[in-house]
Formats: sequence, C-alpha cells, structure tokens
Amino acid sequence: MKADALGRKFNTLRLSLTNVCNLACLYCVHESDANSQTFLPTANEVQSQGKKILSVKQFVAVIKSLLRHTPLKTVRLTGGEPTLYKDLPELINALKKLGIPRVVLTTNGFLLKRKAAALKAAGLDGINFSLDAIDKEIFFKMSRRDKLEATLEGIDAALENGIKVKINSVIMKGVNDAQVLPLFDFAVSKNVVIRFIELMKMGHLYKGHNDYFFSEENILWTIAKKYDFQKKLRPTGSTANYWETREGYKFGIIANESSPFCSDCNRLRLDSFGNIYGCLSSNDGISILGCLDDDVQLEQRLQQALKQKQTTKFTGSDLSMKAIGG
Ligand code: SAM
Repeated sequence: MKADALGRKFNTLRLSLTNVCNLACLYCVHESDANSQTFLPTANEVQSQGKKILSVKQFVAVIKSLLRHTPLKTVRLTGGEPTLYKDLPELINALKKLGIPRVVLTTNGFLLKRKAAALKAAGLDGINFSLDAIDKEIFFKMSRRDKLEATLEGIDAALENGIKVKINSVIMKGVNDAQVLPLFDFAVSKNVVIRFIELMKMGHLYKGHNDYFFSEENILWTIAKKYDFQKKLRPTGSTANYWETREGYKFGIIANESSPFCSDCNRLRLDSFGNIYGCLSSNDGISILGCLDDDVQLEQRLQQALKQKQTTKFTGSDLSMKAIGG
C-alpha cells in the first residue's frame, strides 16, 4: 500500500476477537455497567442484531486479503478479553501458517493458567498481561473483580510454558498510583519488562480523564525514589519510551499524552465484526468484509483508515477501548 505524507503504513494489526470482557476495569467500564458483563452487546446479542463476531475462517480470509496490500509483521490478538474467543488456539495456528512473524496476545490473564500450554503449542509468540495492581484490594478497585490470584497464576503459567511475557499497567491517580513501585518490584522479581501506561481519553473517561491522569513524569519520579535509571533511544514505531536501571533492568512508559507517538504509528485495528480503524481517536469503523476480493476497493478503504491517523497527538474518543480492541 501507499504510505501517507509522514511515511506511515500499516505493519502491525491489533485484532479484537470479541467486545466482551470478564473484568470491568475502571477505564473501560462506567460504574453503572460494572455489574453487567454486557455493557457492550455480547456475541449472542450482537448476532440477534444481524451482526456476528467473525469465525476463524473469516478472520483468516480478512487477514489474507490485508496481506496482499501490506506486509503485517505483527498481529496482536486483543479485545474485550481475547481468551474468551473459544477458537483462540486454532486462530493462532492459522495466522502462523499464513506466515505472520509475530502473533501475540494482550490479556488480563486470569484464564491463562489452563490455556497457556495450548496457546504456546499453537505458536503464540508472546503475551502482554494487563496487571494494574498486585495488592488484592487495589486490584479489585481497578478491575471490580476478585481475580488477582488467578492473574498471577496466569503469568506464572505463561512463563513456565516458555512464553515471552511483558506486563502493562495503566496508572490512575488516586486509585493505583501507590502501586507503581510494587508493580515494578514484582516485574523485576519475575525478570519481565513492565510498561506503565498513561490513562488515555477514552470511553466514559473521555471527559473526566484529568481527574485520574498520572503523567509519565509522575511515574518516573515515583520509580526514582528507589532506582537510578537512564533513558534509552526509542525504537521507530514503538509505543513506549524505555529506560534502564543501573542494575540493567529495562522498563517502559506508554505516554500517549506526554509523549505521543502518532507520527510514526504503524498500527491498524480490526474489530470483531470486520471493521478497520486507523486510529483509536476515530469511532468510524470502515467495513472491509464486502471487498476482500476487490483490491481497488480494499486499498481505498485502507487509505481511508490511514487518513484517520492523527499527526501530532491522540485526541481521544468516547468509544471504550473494549469495543475497538485495546
Ligand atoms: N482484556 C484484555 C486485557 O485486559 O489486556 C485486552 C483488552 S483491554 C481493552 C487492553 C488494555 O487496554 C487494558 O489493559 C489497558 O491497558 C488498555 N486500556 C483500556 N482503556 C484505556 C485507557 N482509557 N487508557 C489507557 N489504557 C487503556
């Protein structure tokens, strides 16, 4: 495909396998929906509206068509909660057979204990675990579910199965900012990279974002209370800035607000119904199901998605990340 004026193309696909999740995290779900698993329509409800979450065969057909236009190096499976997609190992296996170099997963991890071996056998190349606290009460406050233990067991299961692991932690002021150092120490103890994430203006926090925003600077300042570190060069296209402690431990911060990375963003998103998005700032999904065999139309729609990208800064969206895929 043709690059845009900033030289951007798509080489990473974030594929949302479902918009349903088994946690109800503060940043995705408004309090009024916290006790329901269905703040967005479930697979069954969606089917009854005439829309259906794609099957493995359909996802593979979509990705095969995309590959004719753009060489996808990474496909990241996400959601909603991707481990709720029942044919996950089959999908991973099929994507590897298409020749995608990196097929990776972003998950809350609490089902991983019983799934890790099958995912590894299917060819999964890595897992990013979303873990926002290692204190039981704060974990509950963030996720509204009592699943810390299961999540930690999930991380151990992935490591025991030889899967590459990273931890992602969204930090919210006044909720889990006291967890920055405990999470950091936990990641050091497991010898895995942790990336702290600045809260993004999305979903129900599109407007109330400032009340909870904990900046990159604040995160660094917190870590500096215990560790000395130096900044590393940011690799092109990386969402995170990285630092290294004097002891040689590397950590990152994904600072959408303080240090946006729009200008070399190479990500394309595909939701579970076959719509593409060029940017999380855009709510306008572009359906590609009807043009998988029509290269002219497909290129046009990819260009339309590329135009959705911001040039300097993420502007936010009232759509929860749970819908497009985090
Ligand atoms: N359920 C999976 C999980 O928990 O990893 C995948 C989907 S979830 C939407 C992926 C991640 O999106 C969350 O863990 C969080 O890191 C991120 N996320 C969602 N809303 C966010 C927001 N407003 N700001 C920053 N990160 C957010």
